[in-house]
Amino acid sequence: MTRRRFLALAATTALATACTDTAADTSPVVHNSPTPAGATRSTRRRSAPPSPAAVHANELGLIPVLMHHRLVTSAAGSYDMTPAFFRQELERLYRENYHPIRALDLARRDLSSVPAGKTPVVLTFDDSTPGQVAFNSTGRVAGDCALGILQSFHARHPEFPAVATFYLNKHPFGLTGSAVPRALVRLNALGCEVGNHTWSHPNLHALSRVEAEAEIGKLAAMVSQATPTAPCGTLALPLGVHPRDSTVLAAGGRGGTAYRNLGVVLVGANPSHSPYHRDFDPMAIPRIRCSSHDSGRGELELGYWLDQLAARPDQKYVSAGNPARITAPRGRQSLLAPKLRSRAVWY
Ligand SMILES: [Zn+2]
Repeated sequence: MTRRRFLALAATTALATACTDTAADTSPVVHNSPTPAGATRSTRRRSAPPSPAAVHANELGLIPVLMHHRLVTSAAGSYDMTPAFFRQELERLYRENYHPIRALDLARRDLSSVPAGKTPVVLTFDDSTPGQVAFNSTGRVAGDCALGILQSFHARHPEFPAVATFYLNKHPFGLTGSAVPRALVRLNALGCEVGNHTWSHPNLHALSRVEAEAEIGKLAAMVSQATPTAPCGTLALPLGVHPRDSTVLAAGGRGGTAYRNLGVVLVGANPSHSPYHRDFDPMAIPRIRCSSHDSGRGELELGYWLDQLAARPDQKYVSAGNPARITAPRGRQSLLAPKLRSRAVWY
């Protein structure tokens, strides 16, 4: 990723010719998927939001969606990270006012949990490897897995939710038998999202539509059987490869393997648009790689993008703390998705 590419991306979020200011009404956008059971809204505000200018609100700005793979004590590949790297990542996200949400929240355009002045961030984990989620002999989340590290961080910083999206394959986290549904129920109860990464992680482009539906549907069925009120709502493409017919991602299967996805996350390699931005596509959400294999500052990676966003804070999504409205500085009116104009507040 070059500086030029960042600036090109940023330009689509930045100054634009003015449209008509909108005297917003408060009618909410109707979403077509319920919040899964166990999803937390612990930081929902009850007091009046602050002045947008006081918090530099910009709800048309960029949102980092972070892609993690294996958590291992010695990083061997460019998708690995160590526990120390992940702890440092959380420290930096907290220090720089990020607030975790789930991929499903982004896909559904529901950022109501993000307090004023905070920037949403999505922590995603692919491949459901054992270092991501593990349980000790008493059934508690093990302290040295990624979820355990996130929970420990949350215990020290309660305003930073221990919320993440885990994209599963068969035998998630190395578990089998009844341990699988038990783990999925726990993740759901903790407010985490369980997403679809297909049953056996194939190259979807090499499959027929029927075969692709079977791969997505079989994993979706495993989750639906464990947590019927919280079916998979988003999908991460295995290998980052699209199927020949992308419509298979949104819905398919029948009976017990029927599925519906409201969002699809990609493999690379830049921040996402705000879900209120005219160019936001929930079926193609880009992600940024988190890896401690090298400096983590490559142009696809976490350090690079957090540096970029820190250097240009006016390009970041910053919540106004007013979920009924979409608040952004004047001059960015043309960046708002037209169907959301009735909710806009410009300052
Ligand atoms: Zn994968």
